[in-house]
Amino acid sequence: MLNIGLTGGIGSGKSRVADLLAQWGAAIIDTDAIAHALTAPQGQAVPALREAFGEQAVTAEGALNRAWMRELIFRDPAAKARLEGILHPLISRCAREQGERARGAYRVFVVPLLVESGRWRDKVDRICVVDCDPETQVSRVGQRSGLTPDGIRAIMAAQSTREGRLQRADDVILNDGATSPALLHERTKIMHDRWIALAAILGTAPGRLASAS
Ligand code: ADP
Repeated sequence: MLNIGLTGGIGSGKSRVADLLAQWGAAIIDTDAIAHALTAPQGQAVPALREAFGEQAVTAEGALNRAWMRELIFRDPAAKARLEGILHPLISRCAREQGERARGAYRVFVVPLLVESGRWRDKVDRICVVDCDPETQVSRVGQRSGLTPDGIRAIMAAQSTREGRLQRADDVILNDGATSPALLHERTKIMHDRWIALAAILGTAPGRLASAS
């Protein structure tokens, strides 16, 4: 089956694009939702997190103590690496298992930090970037979350640049400040139709397509 890696900066519109693709029959595997489930009460990652970071890393309900962990990794890069060393392999495994069970015209793995992580390039046939200008990202996320512009810029600074993402893209869906929801719908549909055609050519044969395109 054709595997698409869908990525983009915070507020770029990944979720909107994934929702549209799901409506049209793609199987969506959302790695953010997987990470959340792994660290929710009694989540699969919680025992390993308790062992690595101690009881204070876990809430009374048995979930990852997010506020505590956010504070820790902010001041300690080694702790961030340790956290990622626990979570990333588990996320990859769950995503693979969900992908194997998924039914759809093709699979879409939604991975916010796909370009940054390096774990995904050989797991997907094509990388699709939802592309957006930074100022629109700040305004969309501000409206959605109530975070301050500086807080949003700090998150963006820890992510790849717009150019860095575009360099690694096989496909791009432009969703900048001048893109209306109707135009995003139209651009996403064009991409979906292309992937449907590609999935038909690919049939059941395994392997990557990106390097052949
Ligand atoms: P991401 O998943 O990349 O963080 P979302 O899909 O959640 O981004 O989009 C961020 C916010 O911007 C959401 O509230 C979404 O509804 C809104 N949004 C995304 N694209 C557009 C657009 N073209 N026009 C208006 N609002 C948009």
